[in-house]
Amino acid sequence: MTSSRFTPALNAARARLDAFAPRAGRHYAAERNRDSGPECRDNVSLLSPYIRHRALTEHEVLAKVLQHHTPEAAEKFIQEVFWRTYWKGWLQMRPRVWRSFLDECANQKARLAHEPGLRAAVMAAEQGRTGVEGFDDWAHELVQTGYLHNHARMWFASIWTFTLQLPWTLGADFFLRHLLDADPASNTLGWRWVAGIQTPGKTYRADPDNIARFSDHRFRPSRLAREAHPLPAAPPPDPTPPGTARHLPPGEPVLLLLHGDDLCGDALLPAPTRVAAVRIAAGGHTQHPWPFGNPAAEWVARLAADAKAHVENARQCPTEGLAALDAAALQQACAETDVHVIATPEAPVGPLADGLEQLARELAPTGIELIPLRRRWDALAWPHATHGFFRFKHQIPELLTANGLL
Ligand SMILES: Cc1cc2nc3c(=O)[nH]c(=O)nc-3n(C[C@H](O)[C@H](O)[C@H](O)COP(=O)(O)OP(=O)(O)OC[C@H]3O[C@@H](n4cnc5c(N)ncnc54)[C@H](O)[C@@H]3O)c2cc1C
Repeated sequence: MTSSRFTPALNAARARLDAFAPRAGRHYAAERNRDSGPECRDNVSLLSPYIRHRALTEHEVLAKVLQHHTPEAAEKFIQEVFWRTYWKGWLQMRPRVWRSFLDECANQKARLAHEPGLRAAVMAAEQGRTGVEGFDDWAHELVQTGYLHNHARMWFASIWTFTLQLPWTLGADFFLRHLLDADPASNTLGWRWVAGIQTPGKTYRADPDNIARFSDHRFRPSRLAREAHPLPAAPPPDPTPPGTARHLPPGEPVLLLLHGDDLCGDALLPAPTRVAAVRIAAGGHTQHPWPFGNPAAEWVARLAADAKAHVENARQCPTEGLAALDAAALQQACAETDVHVIATPEAPVGPLADGLEQLARELAPTGIELIPLRRRWDALAWPHATHGFFRFKHQIPELLTANGLL
């Protein structure tokens, strides 16, 4: 499998969803943990790169799945999709955790410059030269395909942290640089969970028998850490409310700005909104680096180009792509179309959210207001991510009902 398996097009995303939905019931529940190798991925959906950039919404995915299955039969798949939502809500209410990840990662990167032993060990791990069976294969697979099965992500993160004893933030950074679905919430909190920081006292220890069983006996690494003690860390901060949704001034024409955190956000605009122009930014703000790693950046740019064609067709107004969240280009577009409001889908905590905040500050003196709009899915679910997933998942039936899915 190469990254070409993930065709960067909205129709390809829908085709994958259509093909997978009949298998999202009991078959998925029974088979999803098996990682039989890059060529055998029928047991999982492979939808994450599309959902991550919202070429598909969670609502759309579950609506399709519920056409084929009862909520009971699809319970496991529904829960997995809500894991994404839960992680997003959890981080949205604790943005400090993202900032401390960035700070800690920068500290560890600084160590690489003057600790040749650590630098060599990290390079060996990233290049798949550790000699640890399975681990080296997953490192190659990640770099070559931009994707890893969930179980492989767990094994990899555990071996990185407890067997190789490398800083977890550098492993998380390696994932962010290569995954097509690289996501601030799912990735950071997934690594924290493995390391025993997210659920205090609980780590994930990769076990050779478990790896052999769920990798279809492709790998049985020896020499894995027999113990996995939680890494020292401050307890997670208490949640703060995720902010309130904003609305567009009624009757005001807008420029619609789409970006890599939500490429289909035109659906967010209330029906009577007059869209004078559309801009689609493939990257982030130059002052807030990392959207995205090189493979994802290229992939998102192609997906954005495809999204542009769709929205142009739907809206029939001047539509252009932008390389970045560029205040001067947006100001010019607003001047040309005589609009003073830019509507944009909200970006959850992460570099695009920082970039949009920066953009809003740059545009404000010109009299242009940037209004981020929150999806109903997020607005309903995020406030419930106050504690663990166990508590959150009891809200799922209510959330499905509130979203018109039950
Ligand atoms: C250390 C680690 C790092 C991770 N980093 C990322 C990341 O950067 N981006 C990312 O999208 N996911 C991440 N995940 C979560 C998960 O591994 C992927 O979402 C999943 O493997 C994607 O493959 P799929 O679409 O075939 O999944 P499926 O099994 O088909 O699941 C369906 C959907 O449910 C959601 N989902 C499934 N499992 C999880 C999970 N554990 N957490 C959150 N959402 C989930 C995804 O949207 C996925 O597309 C990480 C997990 C771990 C353990």
